[in-house]
Amino acid sequence: MNTQPRLDKLRELMGTQNLGALLISQPENRRYISGFTGSAGILIVTTEQALLATDFRYYEQAPKQAPAFSLVKVSASLVKTLASEIPSLGVKRVGFESHHVTVETFEKWKEALPDIEWVPTSGLVEKLRQVKDAAELEAIKQAVRIADEAMEHIMEWIRPGVTEKEIAWELEVYMRTHGAEKLSFTTIVASGPNSSMPHAVTSDRPVQEGDPLVIDMGAVYEGYCSDLTRSFCLGHASEEYLHIWNTVLQAQLTAEQGIHGGMPANEADALARQLIDKAGYEGKFGHGLGHGVGLAIHEAPRVAQTAKGALPTGSVVTIEPGIYLPGQGGVRLEDMVVLTEDGCRVLTRSPKVPVIKAR
Ligand code: ZN
Ligand code: ZN
Repeated sequence: MNTQPRLDKLRELMGTQNLGALLISQPENRRYISGFTGSAGILIVTTEQALLATDFRYYEQAPKQAPAFSLVKVSASLVKTLASEIPSLGVKRVGFESHHVTVETFEKWKEALPDIEWVPTSGLVEKLRQVKDAAELEAIKQAVRIADEAMEHIMEWIRPGVTEKEIAWELEVYMRTHGAEKLSFTTIVASGPNSSMPHAVTSDRPVQEGDPLVIDMGAVYEGYCSDLTRSFCLGHASEEYLHIWNTVLQAQLTAEQGIHGGMPANEADALARQLIDKAGYEGKFGHGLGHGVGLAIHEAPRVAQTAKGALPTGSVVTIEPGIYLPGQGGVRLEDMVVLTEDGCRVLTRSPKVPVIKAR
């Protein structure tokens, strides 16, 4: 794929930090900048050059996927390859991804290249990844569609007596046989009291009539993730459940109506949080409103009380308010949206219903 525009933008960012070169090792960043999907390797980007150092397993694949990059064959070890390549680049200040490189690896690099001025960087490529281009949006839409279809399927399929694990497996098989290359993350199916834990561990508990359920899952399509949560009761719901469920729905709709590109991330979070607090559930929505989604299931920008800065137009984020009552149950509704200048476009199509039929 042609990643030249991304490479150009990265070089601009490198210029603002006076970096002669930048080493990119974080897998999603490596893929984003080069197109290379392999599991090992490192990009060496200078103002003039773009190198991809990887090992024998990828000698054939790497040049095909990353035509803008020259292949550097790693035969002995990556550190030896860097030690022989970097001095010939004529650079002094070399940035590396301090949020990804381990202390042990960094110590080896320093030892092998003592004359280099190593500059820790964080979030440079992640910053670029926030705003999705047309091809990325298309892949995300497909990932969303697969998850939507799986949710629709499971709402028809669930019946009393099946276990949380069986529901998760049915979802997984459905997504894998309907175009997903893998799952975005381990599917969460939480029923009854388990549903009050935002990221509960899917168990062998059979679901029963009247149980609240929270299902959180996603598909990966051409490297891009989707993220979808729906909550409902099986057969019938209590008055209290319906009240909580409607409060979460209103919080979500309010956020989706109010959010837009350029908005401070903490203000977007407040749209939903204020509504939940006012309804009497202050402190029961213990996580952020949402997060960016793309090559990674959780990426920039964050949409949270503690998030700093504005949400970029063109970013794809989740809107996922929840209310969790320990020992009783929880409700979370999660959509994915693309932020536009004056609002957002909701990508998720799964229906929102508080009760499904117990067959
Ligand atoms: Zn989710
Ligand atoms: Zn999420």
